[in-house]
Amino acid sequence: MRPEALFPLYSPVRSLAGIGPRLEELLIRVAGGDHVVDLLWVLPTGLIDRRHQPQIAHARPGEIATIKVHVDDHIPARTRRLPYRVRVSDETGGMVLTFFNGREDFLRKTLPEGETRIVSGTLEDYQGVLQMTHPDFIVAPEDMATLPLVEPVYPLTTGLTSKVMGKATRGALARVPELPEWLDAALKNLHHFAAWHDAIAAAHKPDVEKDLSPQTPHRRRLAYDEMLANQLALAMMRAHMRKSSGRSLKGDGTIAGRIRAGLPYELTGTQEITLGEIGRDLESPERMLRLLQGDVGAGKTVVAVLAMAQAAEAGAQSAMMAPTEILARQHFATIAPLAEAAGLKAAILTGRDKGATRAAVLDDLKSGAIQIIVGTHALFQDDIEFADLGFAVIDEQHRFGVHQRLALGAKGKGVDVLVMTATPIPRTLTLTAYGDMDVSRITEKPPGRKPVKTVALPLTRLGDVVDAVRREVGRDGQIYWVCPLVEESELIDAAAAEERFAFLEDLFGKKVALIHGRMKGVEKDRVMAAFKAGETRILVSTTVIEVGVDVAAANVMVVEHAERFGLAQLHQLRGRVGRGTESGSCLLIYQAPLGETAKARIEILRETDDGFRIAEEDLRLRGAGDLLGTKQAGLPRFRMADLEAHADLLEIARDDAALILHQDPDLKSPRGEALRVLLYLFGRDEAVRYLKSG
Ligand code: ADP
Ligand code: MG
Repeated sequence: MRPEALFPLYSPVRSLAGIGPRLEELLIRVAGGDHVVDLLWVLPTGLIDRRHQPQIAHARPGEIATIKVHVDDHIPARTRRLPYRVRVSDETGGMVLTFFNGREDFLRKTLPEGETRIVSGTLEDYQGVLQMTHPDFIVAPEDMATLPLVEPVYPLTTGLTSKVMGKATRGALARVPELPEWLDAALKNLHHFAAWHDAIAAAHKPDVEKDLSPQTPHRRRLAYDEMLANQLALAMMRAHMRKSSGRSLKGDGTIAGRIRAGLPYELTGTQEITLGEIGRDLESPERMLRLLQGDVGAGKTVVAVLAMAQAAEAGAQSAMMAPTEILARQHFATIAPLAEAAGLKAAILTGRDKGATRAAVLDDLKSGAIQIIVGTHALFQDDIEFADLGFAVIDEQHRFGVHQRLALGAKGKGVDVLVMTATPIPRTLTLTAYGDMDVSRITEKPPGRKPVKTVALPLTRLGDVVDAVRREVGRDGQIYWVCPLVEESELIDAAAAEERFAFLEDLFGKKVALIHGRMKGVEKDRVMAAFKAGETRILVSTTVIEVGVDVAAANVMVVEHAERFGLAQLHQLRGRVGRGTESGSCLLIYQAPLGETAKARIEILRETDDGFRIAEEDLRLRGAGDLLGTKQAGLPRFRMADLEAHADLLEIARDDAALILHQDPDLKSPRGEALRVLLYLFGRDEAVRYLKSG
């Protein structure tokens, strides 16, 4: 249960004074979450300094100034197009306050002739006269205290004013409770960290530019807290998994040998190395929790199959889970013939298998007749029982969360778990997403792959792209044409996949097909199958299309609005072509003009095909929070921590987490109790549950 002290922060945004449903929606958009606490995580990106309080004679156009003035007289607008003006002065000179569409009764009340007012805003020069158009603040001298001399500036969205955002944030800050200290005292002193509630308050109250730096002790403390919550949660899950000890799945190499003998190729060096690492984990009595990283097409599947063969030699069943139906079926198509040639029985189970088929598979799983099962999350269902599940392979591609990894593990005793990912994640991100999970990496491509030629073109050269596509179709080649998802923002005018489909259909008729996320599963399969069979030649899709899908004849990848994709994502898309004998090409269409970052990204793509290098560069160029696809990759989104700026803290947090769990594995000590609050503060509720179920 979430501690009561956090209830005020975990109430809905609309519980703040003055926030109705409309504003709530806008605030949620900016905060990225619907709780009050999410507003706390939006730190100011700038500040407005109104402390400059000159007399009129010393005030300069261009400055933001706060000036005490005498209201001389009102000059109402003669026509609707002219501004309403109010002349003001002090002992050193005069200036004009200007209002467009100003309402006279309101302005006469706010600026009564003959009285003194304090106005604050940006000064301008208008035909030699100093003026202030629509002052930000107009207050009577006795209300001076209500005028914020330093204002934090927050990120906003269309329709959300800084006044509303500021007020909502102040409301959220007013609810910040004093929480028990979860940091180690020595560490706190060493880094000059203040208490959490002081740090969060201070981070929202910048006084000078420097206070906005991620390197202030306050911001570093908040970042550290978040990293500690992240590392602690991961370490707890790992400890939970390790608690049930593993088993030794020792093979004699007979089945794996038969599979190898049937392969039309030799394993690459790193395939052998990773297979060795996995094999030793299977054999050891400790429970395996390993991540297998490798680019799309690097050949992870065969490594997994050989490992599953080892499990079968030891008499245990294996399960391989894929995130989507299409991928599960594709894996099954690869695995089944290999398995069967080696005398193993493989089967598939997805949400779509029903009735008698499903019942038969379930029976065979329970009796042990099936050694290898491939499926989707349907494999988690309660009525699925294994005779003896020993090894679970989770092909994450993008989408599973940590808890799903555990759910499959729970279907057997001491199940060894291998997670495969095609997202080449930089090392720092690996640490944040998987903690200190063991990592194996396949770093080279199978031999014979020709590099994909990468070209970037502005949208104005769409005609050239169409020509290239026409040539490719003429040679019986196939083309992927990827359009980015239409983003929420109405500002961005996306070339929706549907529009592009219609355009290409006019040119190429029945050769063009469309696939997107809103289509039904069966429908998607049908489109995909037709493309794979070569019945259609051009596949227009949104990015929802599965990255891992294998179509050997597809040799051209067109990506529209390439500037909107992350480097890693572009790399993955490109990885889908050039798998056959012909060398492939990748045409990146961008909307001119290209920004510096977009230019750098395209340059790197043209330079290298190394997914890991690309991932590191992506992180460097964009910052972890911006990595497109971060969310789908199941990577945690950090709110306070900036993985680049605070990289030094991550390692400390990892060691800290390990030490905490060593000394107080159930988080029972006073500090342990405080750490539970920290976990809840950052929404790591699931980690706390593992303590209990442990
Ligand atoms: P991944 O799962 O890493 O995306 P796959 O396992 O689907 O990659 O492999 C992609 C393709 O490469 C498959 O057609 C597979 O048969 C082939 N392949 C795998 N390993 C090798 C190898 N060592 N030499 C040649 N081809 C390979
Ligand atoms: Mg694959």
